Amino acid sequence: MTFDRTPALSDDTAGADPSVTDTALGDSGASAARRLRSAPTVPAAVTAAESLFRALTGSDPAGVWSAPGRANLIGEHTDYNDGFVLPFAIQHRTAAAARLRADGRIRVASTFAAEPVEVALDDLETLFPAAGAAPGPAEPAGGASRRLETPGSAPQTPGAAGGALPGPVDEQPGTVPEWAAYPLGVAWALRALVPTWAAGTFAGVDIAIASDVPVGAGLSSSAAIEGATSTALNELWGLGLDPVVLAQAGRRAENEAVGAPTGIMDQMASMLGQADAAVFLDCRSLETRSVPLGFAEAGLEVLVIDTGVKHAHSTGGYGERRASCERGAAALGVPALRDVTPADLPRAAELLDEVDFRRVRHVVTEDQRVLETVAVLAADGPRAIGELLVASHASMRDDFEISIPELDTAVDVALAHGAVGARMTGGGFGGAAIALVDHDLVPAVSEAVRAAFAEAGFAAPHLFTVTPSSGPRRDV
Ligand code: ADP
Ligand code: MG
Repeated sequence: MTFDRTPALSDDTAGADPSVTDTALGDSGASAARRLRSAPTVPAAVTAAESLFRALTGSDPAGVWSAPGRANLIGEHTDYNDGFVLPFAIQHRTAAAARLRADGRIRVASTFAAEPVEVALDDLETLFPAAGAAPGPAEPAGGASRRLETPGSAPQTPGAAGGALPGPVDEQPGTVPEWAAYPLGVAWALRALVPTWAAGTFAGVDIAIASDVPVGAGLSSSAAIEGATSTALNELWGLGLDPVVLAQAGRRAENEAVGAPTGIMDQMASMLGQADAAVFLDCRSLETRSVPLGFAEAGLEVLVIDTGVKHAHSTGGYGERRASCERGAAALGVPALRDVTPADLPRAAELLDEVDFRRVRHVVTEDQRVLETVAVLAADGPRAIGELLVASHASMRDDFEISIPELDTAVDVALAHGAVGARMTGGGFGGAAIALVDHDLVPAVSEAVRAAFAEAGFAAPHLFTVTPSSGPRRDV
């Protein structure tokens, strides 16, 4: 198999999708989106990040960098089992407007948070003690001291330039709000990566962040904020790191600074996305290959059905699933479930308790489905992958038990109304489903899903289409 690691930093013209600005942007972002409909090449998030930066500092940023969210076509909970995934970057992006400052301090602001957060760069190592101290996957790192606040309850409206943002909160080590651990954790991880670090290598920096990636919907707003921040810092600090290394820094920030025990898939999808293609990733070797999807040519759309039910990686079921997988690999005497084949499953059934066995069966069969999807896409095109998507959903629902009634309803109704395939996407316990739908059927499927949700007494879902798009870039 030939892998191509070439990063994708090409332009894409997907632009802002006004249909999502209500979920993730502050007011200024939404109005920017309205203004930008006639100029779709500038994502609304870029403009929103610039205005927030001006409100924060009273001056222009040195640049604006952005990175996309992602949808996972197939391959769920296989990444931390060293397996295969097939995600694609989406047109929704998180933008970071940034500029160096001379005093060795880092200040981060987001339209998503009420107040900026500021720390001395040299305090990052105290704030995020280096791994080794990293706890096991079932016990997220960091502890409550870094999760003092529930982020995002009230999106902030950035003021006019030089306007009325509250003053920065000078954080004591261990007290940074959770959202700020993403960009600050990226800065921390980048510093740790550069062995020649010496006083003066890393100047201080102001960063203002805005996004049109729906948060907590399974579309990886977390990888998008990490990717935007790492891409900005990579250039401003002159680090010259390649996108795969930046993806690893983002994962380290998420695992160790935030304390969410996630795999590498999201960051790699965001950093290596290409238009009209998925990122086929071997999570063990980190080899990637761009896999053409051909959705548009086949007249297909990817409809996202965001249930609005928030998931949280840093708590509960996600860690339990990881622990099951590790027990399974240990019982079978392999480094990771990647090394288990379907032929090994009868032995797994003997060695494991019933629940752990089903967890293992999901991962093993899901790896196979990813490989099959790549093969089927090449041989028969995107319409032929529907059954694999449906089987993936069933496996997550029945064996891995990470679906919720809203996601099952979304998938069932989409399929009943003509979707080629459908499955929940992302870590589970909430978030979104994706459905591969004929362009002309999108309105009917959407309507049917809305009606079914209303009938079941679920909160109204948020529906929009996503387009396979390119990775990080400098926008301004
Ligand atoms: P997902 O990646 O599926 O959207 P996660 O729970 O992994 O969900 O990440 C969401 C978290 O990432 C948010 O709760 C917040 O802490 C952080 N985050 C994402 N986007 C932003 C943003 N634009 N500004 C500030 N924090 C953000
Ligand atoms: Mg995430």
